[in-house]
Amino acid sequence: MKIRTRYAPSPTGKMHVGNLRSALYEFLVAKHDGGDFMLRIEDTDQERFVEGAVELINRTLAQTGLIYDEGPDKDGGVGPYVQSERVKTGIYMKYAKELIEKGEAYYCFCDKERLASLKTEVVEGKEICMYDKHCLGLSKEEVEANLAAGKPYVIRQNIPNEGTTTFVDELYGEITVDNAELDDMILIKSDGYPTYNFANVVDDHTMNITHVVRGNEYISSSPKYQRLYDAFGWKSPVYIHLPLITDENHKKLSKRSGHSSFEDLMEQGFVAEAVVNYIALLGWSPEDNREIFSLEELIKEFDYHRISKSPAVFDIVKLRWMNGEYIKAMDFDSFYEKAEVYLKKALTKDFDLKKIANMVKTRIEVFPDIPELVDFFEELPEYSPEMYTHKKMKTNSETSLQVLRDMLPILEAQEDYSNDGLYATLTKYVEEKGVKNGYVMWPIRTAVSGKQMTPAGATEIMEIIGKDETLRRIRKGIELLEQA
Ligand code: GLU
Repeated sequence: MKIRTRYAPSPTGKMHVGNLRSALYEFLVAKHDGGDFMLRIEDTDQERFVEGAVELINRTLAQTGLIYDEGPDKDGGVGPYVQSERVKTGIYMKYAKELIEKGEAYYCFCDKERLASLKTEVVEGKEICMYDKHCLGLSKEEVEANLAAGKPYVIRQNIPNEGTTTFVDELYGEITVDNAELDDMILIKSDGYPTYNFANVVDDHTMNITHVVRGNEYISSSPKYQRLYDAFGWKSPVYIHLPLITDENHKKLSKRSGHSSFEDLMEQGFVAEAVVNYIALLGWSPEDNREIFSLEELIKEFDYHRISKSPAVFDIVKLRWMNGEYIKAMDFDSFYEKAEVYLKKALTKDFDLKKIANMVKTRIEVFPDIPELVDFFEELPEYSPEMYTHKKMKTNSETSLQVLRDMLPILEAQEDYSNDGLYATLTKYVEEKGVKNGYVMWPIRTAVSGKQMTPAGATEIMEIIGKDETLRRIRKGIELLEQA
């Protein structure tokens, strides 16, 4: 049997990292086995609908390479693929009525006031109001009369108070709950729309979904879904409920972290491929300790049996590292295309930006790291003369002052300001003095950059800033050391 999975987002705003992981795992479960991956838009909650959210979903899937085989714009014969359009076909009402016929569901006419008067219980910290089956007691005639009078109604699932219900999750195994704990949940709302709880079952079945991958917040409702499958005589899909994603403090990853959505990460300069790679590892790991995977490689390696049940910690430091690995591996042109705006943020003078881009490519983790790394080319920062002292290089303010004083006339006379030309001049001095390279390079680099760490060596920097600026900076260094 061909595996068919679906990503079923509700268009309610940003693409949360957890949603993207569900989409990715659904995609991988299908593609690992040569199956089909489908996009279904779950927009039955009209109040939570956010303008533009569907476009965002489409854009994100395209950007991350999660190309679906079927979806709103790719008919595979089981559409429509948007729930609000499915409502119009009458499919949910038809199945809800079938359940009523079977005694597995019933009309409920209770108004807000009555529902508010029902007693609530606190279950797992949440206030739960269990419906008291009041309307299950209505006679057929009473129901008919209410319907004929146009009284607003919902349709509820009828769950017995006795017995238990069992469903199977691939990772958690068999889960059995007491029916008494299961609320008679609403299947069809008073606006005629199905709830998620009902629509997911009808749709997954009628769209021939074989594997459902979703967050484990749905585990507690799954027994109710199982009862619906059983009532219809349908085979339920394979369920794979994913572990929670937490922040560094082991709290559910939320907006407060500042990086809970794909858009946040894009704005912060991450590369989509790196984000996909990182998210793949939020709950799944390969047999070896390998960490870098292209999407193609993930498809090959992904085995859902290796998904973990323990919460996955979203570690932004790790993601930054991984992003840096992706940047290192990028070809130069694609890198430059993205790096240019960040270079231009810090550099307005007439520099060879491509040369500078080459220097930073292996030294950044995200693109916004660039300006801080290169701003010294534009302007020499204020720096402390203590920076001239370096134990390993055996330099201090006196040796450095000597080197700068010796080098100044040599560099004034120097015509060739290419990296190679400058390097030859500097090493010639090194040899004459019989000192180590760093003894000369360290003070020169300090003088021309004003920084402890630079993306390039002294002579590369001098080539970029040119003769006049080099001499100005060397003189400045001499001045600084003379006053120290
Ligand atoms: N619309 C649900 C959500 O966005 C889908 C859950 C599921 O995959 O079944 O959370």
